[in-house]
Amino acid sequence: MAGPEREYDVVVVGGGINGLTTAIYLQRSGLQVACFERKLEAGSGCCTEEVMQPGVKVNLCACNMVTLWSPPYGDLQLEKFGLEMLTSSEWGMFHPFKDRTAVMFNSFHAQKTYEHFKSRNVHDAELFKTAFNVMGPMLGDSLMSSMFSQATNGPDEVVAADGLGSMLRMLIPEIPENVHELNGIELAEAVYHDEKIRTAILGNCIMAGSHPWDGGMATLMPIIFPIMQALQSVTWTCRGGSHALVHALASCFAYHGGRLFTGCPVDKMILEGDEVKGVVLSKDAVFGEAEVKARRAVVSNLSCHPTFRDLIGEEKLPGWVKEGVDAYKNDETVLFTNYWVLDQPPRWEGYPEELNEAYGFNFGMESTEDIRRLAHCLENDELPDPPIVAGLSVQGFALADPSQAPKGRYTMMAWSNVPYKLPQHGGAEKWDEIRESYGDKVDALLREYNPGIMDTVVDRYCNSPLDYYRKNPSQVMGSTTSGPTSLKWYGTARPFPGCGAPRTPFGNLYLSNSIWPFGTTNLGAGYVAASIVAEDLGVRKDQQDWWNHDGIAAGQELLKRRGIELDLNIT
Ligand SMILES: Cc1cc2nc3c(=O)[nH]c(=O)nc-3n(C[C@H](O)[C@H](O)[C@H](O)COP(=O)(O)OP(=O)(O)OC[C@H]3O[C@@H](n4cnc5c(N)ncnc54)[C@H](O)[C@@H]3O)c2cc1C
Repeated sequence: MAGPEREYDVVVVGGGINGLTTAIYLQRSGLQVACFERKLEAGSGCCTEEVMQPGVKVNLCACNMVTLWSPPYGDLQLEKFGLEMLTSSEWGMFHPFKDRTAVMFNSFHAQKTYEHFKSRNVHDAELFKTAFNVMGPMLGDSLMSSMFSQATNGPDEVVAADGLGSMLRMLIPEIPENVHELNGIELAEAVYHDEKIRTAILGNCIMAGSHPWDGGMATLMPIIFPIMQALQSVTWTCRGGSHALVHALASCFAYHGGRLFTGCPVDKMILEGDEVKGVVLSKDAVFGEAEVKARRAVVSNLSCHPTFRDLIGEEKLPGWVKEGVDAYKNDETVLFTNYWVLDQPPRWEGYPEELNEAYGFNFGMESTEDIRRLAHCLENDELPDPPIVAGLSVQGFALADPSQAPKGRYTMMAWSNVPYKLPQHGGAEKWDEIRESYGDKVDALLREYNPGIMDTVVDRYCNSPLDYYRKNPSQVMGSTTSGPTSLKWYGTARPFPGCGAPRTPFGNLYLSNSIWPFGTTNLGAGYVAASIVAEDLGVRKDQQDWWNHDGIAAGQELLKRRGIELDLNIT
């Protein structure tokens, strides 16, 4: 690999999926862009590694790949660069209970979810139908415009939860008048009659990063999220594993003439006054201690703390910036992983047949009391015991894409929600000592639901939040979503008020991480960063006809090509 030039128009620090997305848009807009990635493989938040048996592809980070629901999927023609989105079944998610019943969510056919709910509880099915038919069309548009544009409002205004709450009350009379004082668990208890439906819905909200023990928008998510789930399914993998997305982006970047340098940790930003002029690579980098100047912009794809504390340097932060950076909360959504290899396809004996092919599930929550237990544990940095798996379990990787496991083998994973700090055990470093025993607890819990599946396990790999942090120092404390996702951190509050993200208080420096929207595989943060840098540098021209997909159009086209017609109305 030829070394980097001394100067580029734009330098991107970190080759994660969002950094690469920003890099491609800017390169395609006529700028000369270089991206420096710490590891030998780019895309740490979307890694697929053979850490178990050869041929067993382990998707350690993102597993619900939602890239199809984004402008970059279409603009960057990611299919042309090898990205293929796959799922195992129209039944995307389910929530099993110990009595061998399950609540199921259909990814494409809201009608089927409605009919399934109806078989459990007519009232709850009708509530879902009313909310879906009225709010479905609105949600698609408003969600998309907020996900792919720079935040202009803070947490109070961005979701207008009060207004939405009042509107929902007109549709659903059970919503109490004091909805604004309730949290999501209380609202779910007020409106859903069936304990299992409400528990399953709350589990899905947690999976999506919305904590139902919070108020504001989190209060309304138990009504809104089932609608979104039926309009923009989240249960997708990529052929070859999640990392295939990184390869598609890296190939696209190279195709358009961009340079990605792996094995090149960036050590420092070059600061002149309060302007960032380039970067210095670490002495351990492949091109050790090289100085690379940026003529027009530096984009940091690292999260808030490493960007400001490490690359700029704490001593160089103005007081108000330091305060904002210090307040940034990394450990709101932290996951512990069990990954299993099975020697049989997953079977759910005694449960509804649909579960066998379904993509993902949550478990360990029998009622809202378990959700409250999780809230208590996370608020007090206590390890849930027994564990609670509301971060998602996936059994559909090899069912959707046999290339993810050797012949005759299948994979399955579970994300338990845990605190990072572990004060009762003596601190976060104790994760190394308790990793396997906590993994055993997750095994034992799943055995209560499905002993048959656990009898087919031939290998297991566990990953703690400390392991995540070590593998990617930008994922501070193992944070799943590049920082917090609760209401307090919506919109312009990310990463701190006054930052103006993706712009920063430092000239020429932009962020494609820890900004609005939250980190997910919809590439929203990278897209928003690209839009603002392009605007500031005057390179986004009206005649750029490739930069023209809006919102979820590309995903809808993909479903159409597959012959899938989404239900837009429940009858
Ligand atoms: C456990 C887990 C589960 C998740 N599950 C899902 C899911 O199911 N669905 C979903 O949509 N999203 C999920 N996410 C979130 C998603 O993976 C991330 O939002 C996304 O990958 C973040 O991409 P990014 O480019 O913003 O950041 P990153 O992927 O963190 O990119 C930053 C890059 O910078 C590199 N780097 C770090 N330090 C330096 C340095 N000093 N110099 C140069 N490079 C550096 C890192 O190696 C990394 O490649 C999950 C994340 C985790 C951790």
